Amino acid sequence: MLIAVEPLDRLVRAIFREKGCPEDEAARIARYLIKANLTGHDSHGVIRVPLYVTWIEAGRMRPGQHVRVLVDTPVLAVLDGQFGMGQTVGPEATRIGIAKAREQGVGIIALRDAGHLGRIGDFAEMAIEAGLVSIHFVNVFGSLLVAPFGAASRRLSTNPVAIGVPTGDDAPFVLDFATSYVAEGKVAVAHQGGKPIPDTALVDEAGNLSGDPRTLYGEDAGQAYPDPTRGKGALRPFGEHKGSGLALACELLAGALTGSGVNAGRPGPFHNGMLSIFLDPARFDTGDRFLADVRAFIAWVKSAKPVDPVEGVLIPGDKERRTEAERRAGGIPLAADSWRLILDTARKVGLSDGEIAELLEEEGP
Ligand code: NAD
Repeated sequence: MLIAVEPLDRLVRAIFREKGCPEDEAARIARYLIKANLTGHDSHGVIRVPLYVTWIEAGRMRPGQHVRVLVDTPVLAVLDGQFGMGQTVGPEATRIGIAKAREQGVGIIALRDAGHLGRIGDFAEMAIEAGLVSIHFVNVFGSLLVAPFGAASRRLSTNPVAIGVPTGDDAPFVLDFATSYVAEGKVAVAHQGGKPIPDTALVDEAGNLSGDPRTLYGEDAGQAYPDPTRGKGALRPFGEHKGSGLALACELLAGALTGSGVNAGRPGPFHNGMLSIFLDPARFDTGDRFLADVRAFIAWVKSAKPVDPVEGVLIPGDKERRTEAERRAGGIPLAADSWRLILDTARKVGLSDGEIAELLEEEGP
């Protein structure tokens, strides 16, 4: 089914308002989750609403929190996210990094104990809007899903990396991916009968490669939210030993260096750690050539002969822009099960059927 952006935004905002988020925070959560859907990353979109509500109820994500500054120098801040909503503490940390980079040319932010930060490319895009380059490493404490290269048991999470580079136009470079071969959400979709995953995306406990979602979820089949703690296998990292190395680096930089904590068999609540580096190209650019070179390079890459002439040769960020243009115009596709769960959640937090219908009402011409 296709859901229009505005009514979906009103519903998601109302749900988080009911759960104790201040109005501005509820609006941010709705905006960022819907942005993930718009850019085609449904695994990080409104499908998370029921999960976030459960996490708020369990105290794993805390409404109304702000970053607490633990260390502050002209180029570095260490910030405690206080298990606040990632859609609040993530942008707050990014704004501090941007301000430092504008002042000093460089800003480094170590954010610890953040609630789920969602799509990390959002922070790269904030920096791009300020004319800055940025690099983000993230770890996911308390969510063991990925086996390191050469292993058949879980030691890591899907630890994402993002790099943003402004181009001076409306098509910046935004590289943003999980270091697992496929995002966990894509395995869940395959588990529910959706698009299959590659048959080398998973590894079972005996070390055999697999594309069968039961490797990750066990027999928890058909559940809207299959539970990955039920399976004995693991996701594999992308790019063999190289992707695995990058995933390990995320754990060291975003988990150990930030003080957020590393997945090392320790119990503790789910949270993200993020190390972000913001760089002001204007301070590097003695000959005023940076943006011209960036654009020349991108044009050069895109001039390569495409394998698929319809798709063309894309740079990171293009796919998301294309999907966003389509979905803003045509609506956001949601599986009937996911939509039903969001509506159930709306009722669970106290919204009546009448209130839900009013929120979802399309505005007339
Ligand atoms: P993905 O596999 O879809 O890769 C996305 C990247 O590849 C983007 O930069 C995109 O522009 C680029 N890309 C896609 N198609 C391309 C093409 N044809 N040519 C060139 N470039 C192309 O992403 P993913 O690994 O599924 O990650 C999804 C999202 O999940 C990301 O936004 C990530 O930040 C997020 N995530 C968050 C957490 C967390 O804990 N907060 C954990 C894992 C992932």
